[in-house]
Amino acid sequence: MKKHRIAVIPGDGIGLEVIEAGKRVLETLVENHPDVNFEFKTFDWSSRRYLEQGEYIPEGGLEELRTFDAIYFGAVGSEQVPDHVSLWDLRLKICQGFDQYANVRPARLLPGVKSRLQGAEKIDWVIIRENSEGEYSGNGGRVHQGLPEEVGTEVSLFTRKGVERIHRFAFDMAMSRPRRKLTLVTKSNAQRHGMVLWDEIFFEVAREYPEVEVDRELVDAITTRMILKPETLDVVVATNLHADILSDLAAALSGSLGIAPTANLNPGGGFPSMFEPIHGSAFDITGKGIANPVGAFWTAVMMLEHLGENALAGRLMAAIEEVIGSGLQAPDLGGQATTHEITAAVCDAVRQKAKAVQAVG
Ligand code: ATP
Repeated sequence: MKKHRIAVIPGDGIGLEVIEAGKRVLETLVENHPDVNFEFKTFDWSSRRYLEQGEYIPEGGLEELRTFDAIYFGAVGSEQVPDHVSLWDLRLKICQGFDQYANVRPARLLPGVKSRLQGAEKIDWVIIRENSEGEYSGNGGRVHQGLPEEVGTEVSLFTRKGVERIHRFAFDMAMSRPRRKLTLVTKSNAQRHGMVLWDEIFFEVAREYPEVEVDRELVDAITTRMILKPETLDVVVATNLHADILSDLAAALSGSLGIAPTANLNPGGGFPSMFEPIHGSAFDITGKGIANPVGAFWTAVMMLEHLGENALAGRLMAAIEEVIGSGLQAPDLGGQATTHEITAAVCDAVRQKAKAVQAVG
């Protein structure tokens, strides 16, 4: 029996609702499974905890988290805590502390999902986001605070090691996909230091991957290409900030923020990787029972793949596609289904698929 130890951090807002739903689906996936089991431990690291106890992560928390096989994360953000505090004190502490330098964000149109974009069925992208430095390195400061001469700096930091490893990761990703295409995104016409370093290292690494077809695009230009020629993109590699923005656009073009997943990977395996839906805590719908749990489910698929459970990952993805394709959709996709109804339907579909496999076996 293989047991995967999973740390669960639901966080804030709808994070609690969708991660609870995702846990239910994962438990259903392994019920009566002879070989695989999950051990979940839930951590209450959230803005609520911060407001009550003054910290998101308790002392020794990261050391304990490090012992898990994977982290299943919801969302962080609260109206009572400045966004830069919640982000840096929880999510980025884990991503950067565990050197989860590769952020992977797939986008494609799931069956039955309507996009506002004509031709959205041609979207089949993976956006690779550098996740450890760049614009989010935290390098900067404030001087003369509150005075008329106040200054704030935010300095992007690009290291050869950091850039090279994300490019290599992106090339490997491109190699694993049928089209083997990789698009480099920077803004190296206007930003002539760090961005030019990105370009240079990209083409150095490209020499090791002759089978990958490469091209490059400025970050402003790629937004129009994503909309006008979606079929020309496959894997895209970009910096922390650029890819953050592009992946929200990708999620919206492929239906809604509510269905998009992401993985924060530590490819070397020295630390656990973290899996989360890309949406935030969404206060406007928190507690209403209408959060779309599909992003959290697709996230679970990515986590299963990372854990080497490819058959279970395939079964869950097929169940998600069946349910969403049947028209049972949450309000963000124009439907009326609740979080609970979608979760129950995906659990049923998972059980049916397990039965079908047993019948064949
Ligand atoms: P953050 O600042 O952390 O990105 P946010 O609350 O500003 O978070 P999101 O939560 O990412 O923004 O999403 C913006 C809006 O999209 C939400 O207010 C909500 O209306 C909608 N949305 C996001 N996720 C979902 C979901 N899973 N189901 C339904 N609607 C969603």
